[in-house]
Amino acid sequence: MKRNDITMLARELADKSVEDILKYFISEYTYRGAGAAGQSGMDRIALGTGLGVEGQVLTHMIATIHPKARIFVIDTGRLPEETYDLMMRSMNRYGVRYEIYFPEASDVEEIERMNGPNLFYENADLRKKCCYVRKVKPLRRVLQTLDVWITGLRRGQSVTRSSIEKIEWDETNGLIKLNPLADWSEDDVWKYIRGNNIPYNRLHDQGYPSIGCAPCTRAVSPGEDIRAGRWWWEQPEQRECGLHFVDGKHAGATAGRAR
Ligand code: SF4
Repeated sequence: MKRNDITMLARELADKSVEDILKYFISEYTYRGAGAAGQSGMDRIALGTGLGVEGQVLTHMIATIHPKARIFVIDTGRLPEETYDLMMRSMNRYGVRYEIYFPEASDVEEIERMNGPNLFYENADLRKKCCYVRKVKPLRRVLQTLDVWITGLRRGQSVTRSSIEKIEWDETNGLIKLNPLADWSEDDVWKYIRGNNIPYNRLHDQGYPSIGCAPCTRAVSPGEDIRAGRWWWEQPEQRECGLHFVDGKHAGATAGRAR
């Protein structure tokens, strides 16, 4: 699909349900054997999940639509034990085999030798460097294999995410970025999780609305912003890791209006 077609397609799919949008893209970008679209032998579409509740909603839907769908996880090496536990429970429930991507060992060795294992607390530059090595570089490896990247981003998650669209052209990575839950509220997500008995991270019941790496995530107080527990020592507009946003700006997305 060409970049200019995205806006038209986003308009056509504007009133479709999340499941219908997923079905459309999964059917278009799933490998169907030699001679068909997707010559590489792999699906050109995948869900990227950090095992948050939005990722769990999409895992549940996608596992129903296409049980062998690609679902990838960036394992930074600093995830909480509860997240690994959830991965195991989800694998058992849905039969998924996550594509797991690690950072390059030599990159991690270098930043830790230079700055220590907890460099992220020293200053924003070192924190971003850690996120770049542990998250962004491994993500780039997997995105090279994709035409469509499905995410669990929602507009209501933070100020930095308020302008995302359901279907976007990601200029930086040269692919379609699908954010099917863009207009869901936090309540919508939890209703779906509870209504379908979907496994979720135990930390959510201990005051952690958003969960990333263990040293960079804390519980929040009632009424606090849902991302207030991520890199809590930084300003709200800086609290992104570079996977989707760079310097407080939405990285690369330029087209698509299926709100
Ligand atoms: S969230 Fe923290 S530990 Fe994880 S990659 Fe970013 S700075 Fe490093």
